Amino acid sequence: MSSRVNPTPSQRKRLLEKNANVCCVCKQRGMGLELHHIDGDNSNTVDENLAVLCAKDHDHHHRPNAYNIPYCSELSSTEIKEYKEYWESFVNEAKQTNPKIVAMLNVYGNENHIHSMRLILQWENGKVEFE
Ligand SMILES: [Zn+2]
Repeated sequence: MSSRVNPTPSQRKRLLEKNANVCCVCKQRGMGLELHHIDGDNSNTVDENLAVLCAKDHDHHHRPNAYNIPYCSELSSTEIKEYKEYWESFVNEAKQTNPKIVAMLNVYGNENHIHSMRLILQWENGKVEFE
């Protein structure tokens, strides 16, 4: 086992920007975003092997049995890699001048009382990236 290589501050910043500063799995913004080594090799610290995960999804991946989520019993490395790739390509597209994506914010309630909101991010071809 080779020794751990920590991402540099500039690499961390670059990866967070690529992921719009949110977890690539659940898209939650905020505290405790961590860089996860997708292949489990702590010395393989290249952008392609680092996924931006919130503390909860990171923990979920490493301790799948601690979570009792019926429709998603584990968060595999393959899934994390897919989330990362889809999300980073989406964020990259969203930064273009004429993005091929559509964002919709559905608001439920009336003008005095908004009880819920739903943000839907969708590719031009209809594929929903995040809801
Ligand atoms: Zn998350």
